[in-house]
Amino acid sequence: MRDTSLIYAPKKAKTATSDSDKTESPAAGSVCTRCGTSLSHDEIALTKKLVNRGTTRYYCLSCLAAAFEVSEQDLQNKIRFFKRIGCTLFHPDSYE
Ligand SMILES: [Zn+2]
Repeated sequence: MRDTSLIYAPKKAKTATSDSDKTESPAAGSVCTRCGTSLSHDEIALTKKLVNRGTTRYYCLSCLAAAFEVSEQDLQNKIRFFKRIGCTLFHPDSYE
């Protein structure tokens, strides 16, 4: 009985597409000041709304939720609310 144990290592060709040339949004590439998570447009806008419009420190939803002692769900509801009332920080056109 011959055991031809093949060590089969499948090559995972992960093409790391780095989205570099994104200079349109000044907030592109921003990360959470507290935990380093990369931020979505919503999170940046919400930070501005909750903290200070001129802030340059942004936080992710979970860090914002922790800081303001609310749930992430509450924050998502806020985002939806601000969008509905047409807050320019949450302008739908700035989505990709
Ligand atoms: Zn965070």
